[in-house]
Amino acid sequence: MLNVVKFQKDSVLLVRLSGIIQEGVDFNALIGQIPGSELIISCKEVQRINSSGVKLWIQYFQKLAATGKKLRLVECSPAIVEQINLIVNFACGAKVESVYLPFACGSCKAQFVSLFNTDDLKKVLDSLPEPACPKCKNKTMFDDIPGEYFEFLNR
Ligand SMILES: [Zn+2]
Repeated sequence: MLNVVKFQKDSVLLVRLSGIIQEGVDFNALIGQIPGSELIISCKEVQRINSSGVKLWIQYFQKLAATGKKLRLVECSPAIVEQINLIVNFACGAKVESVYLPFACGSCKAQFVSLFNTDDLKKVLDSLPEPACPKCKNKTMFDDIPGEYFEFLNR
């Protein structure tokens, strides 16, 4: 089940998506009217999206992009980043502004995500950040395959 919380500021509508995107998700009903020219989609809390969800996502956001709305994807969770990488038109012309990176701690095995601005990421791909573990403060490592996770940055 998908939840949507909306904030309108001037001509920009921010929608925060949370939950699971799957068959039956009705983006039209959940997001409703978009009065301004710009839509920011925050995907921080999207845990999962399956193939039916991907179809509905692309249908909805492609249509929106075609009407001239400017789309921005922010705080993309690993589940969303995976789709952005797998499916070339998943972003539907949206700028992918920030993404969560998964990290794992070698000392205490904690797993967590950390938010990065995509423009900043492009500059540090050769030596990825190693944020301190929130539990034990030791250095952590990026917990995915860089060649796959950052594929979209090359487009
Ligand atoms: Zn740790």
